[in-house]
Amino acid sequence: MDSQMRQLIEKDRNHVWHHLSQHSGLKKQDPMVMVEGKGTRITDAKGNNYLDASSGGVWCVNVGYGRTEIADAVRDQLVKLNFFGSTTGTEPAAEFAEKLLEKMPGMSRVYYASSGSEANEKAFKIVRQISQLKYGGKKNKILYRERDYHGTTIGALSATGQEERRLHYGPFAPGFVEFPHCCEYRSQFGDVKDYGILAAKELEKVILREGPETVGAVIFEPITAGGGVITPPEGYWPAVMEICKKYNVLVHIDEVVCGMSRTGKWFGYQHYGIKPDIVTLAKGVASSYAPISCVVTTEAIFNEFLADGSDREAYFRDISTYAGCTSGPAAALANLKILERENLVENTAVVGEYLLNKLKDLATKHSIIGDVRGKGLLLGIELVTDKQTKAPVDEQVAIKIAGMCMQKGLIIGRTNRSFKFLNNTLCLCPILTLTHEEADFIADTIDQVLTELNA
Ligand code: PMP
Repeated sequence: MDSQMRQLIEKDRNHVWHHLSQHSGLKKQDPMVMVEGKGTRITDAKGNNYLDASSGGVWCVNVGYGRTEIADAVRDQLVKLNFFGSTTGTEPAAEFAEKLLEKMPGMSRVYYASSGSEANEKAFKIVRQISQLKYGGKKNKILYRERDYHGTTIGALSATGQEERRLHYGPFAPGFVEFPHCCEYRSQFGDVKDYGILAAKELEKVILREGPETVGAVIFEPITAGGGVITPPEGYWPAVMEICKKYNVLVHIDEVVCGMSRTGKWFGYQHYGIKPDIVTLAKGVASSYAPISCVVTTEAIFNEFLADGSDREAYFRDISTYAGCTSGPAAALANLKILERENLVENTAVVGEYLLNKLKDLATKHSIIGDVRGKGLLLGIELVTDKQTKAPVDEQVAIKIAGMCMQKGLIIGRTNRSFKFLNNTLCLCPILTLTHEEADFIADTIDQVLTELNA
C-alpha cells in the first residue's frame, strides 16, 4: 500500500464517525475505505478488489459504479442551473416526474425530497393533514408492521418495527401503532394452510382495537428488506387491500429498497396487485449518484390539498431546501434511461431467479441455512443453529461469514455491522447488471465459506 493510502486510512480512523458502527473494533483493525468502483466491482484503499453484492453496502447503487453518463448529466445540469427552491419547478424535476409516472399507472404526482426517511416523514404529514382537513384530526394514526424499517429520523423510527434500531431513542412520536409481521418461516400460528390470510387478519385486529375512525394509514414495505428479506405469503396482499378499503385506511408503500427494478419489476408493489395511495422512493431512484427521494401520490390525495373556496389553508405546509437541487432529478433521469436501455428490470428478474435457485440448493447442503427467500436481486439467507427448532444463530456467526466472504473477494454485508438488524439473515442485494457468472461466484463463495465452517 502506498503512503498516501496509508495516510487516508489514518485520516478516516482519526476523524470519521461511521454510521451504524462500533468503533472500538477499529482500534485493532484498519477501517475500510473505498476509493474506486467500476460496474459491479469496488476497490478499497489497500487495493483489494471485490464483487459488490450489496450495491454500495446499503442497497442503492442499482445500475453500478462508474456510470459516466449519469455523472455527465449531473455536471451539465449543474452548470446550466444547479438549484432553485422547490416552491418553484425546474427542468429536470418536471422531466423526471413525467418519466417516473409512466412506470406507475394510477399514480399522479411527485413530491421531491433527499432521503428515504425524509420522504416517509413527508408522507406521514400528508396523512396527518388529510386527517385534519377531513376528519377533524381524529383519523391520524399510522400503523406499521413488525420487522419493517422506514427510516432513521424520530418520526420514521416511530413507524419502524425493529426493536434493535429503536433501542435508546425513545420517547417516540405518538400515533404510531405496530401490527404483526407476515414471515411464514416464523409463523405465529404454526404450520397452517392459510397463513397469508391469517397474517392479514392480524392487521384487521389492530385496526379494530384502535378504532377504524382513528386509523389514517398503514405503511408497508412490499417485501420487507432490512428486517430479513420477507416475501409476503400467498393471499396476504389481496386480503390486506380488502381490509384497508373496508376501513377507509390509506395504503402507503415504502419502495425505498424495492423500487426502481430491485425486485424484477419496476416497483415491488406491482408483483402483488397492490393499489397504493402513497409510494415513497429513494436509494435506487438515481442509483445514489445524487441524493434524491420522492413521495408519489394518486391524484385523489393531491386533490385533498386543493383549495375549494371554503378552506384556503389546505395547501401542504412542507418544504425542504435540498429538494430544489437539480443534481437529483438529472441523475434520476439518466439512471432511468440506463434501466430501460439495458433491460435491467428483465435482467434482475432472470438472474435473480437463477441466484435464488442456487441458494436454495445450498440450503439442502448446509445445516446452517434455515430459509432462503426473496425476489429479483433482493435475496435473503436466514441462518439457524438447528433446522428443526429454527433457533437463530448468534449474530457473530453471520458477521464471521460476511468477513470470510470479503476475504474471498465478495461483499455481502459489512463485517462491523450488527446482523441483529437483519434478523440473522445474510442479505444479498447485488448490482442489477449482475451476470450468471457473477451469480455463480456469489453462490460458490458462500458455499466455500460454509463448507470451511462446517456449517
Ligand atoms: N425505508 C426503507 C425500506 C429503508 O430500507 C430505508 C433505508 N435503509 C429507509 C426507508 C430510510 O432511507 P434513508 O436511509 O435514505 O433515510
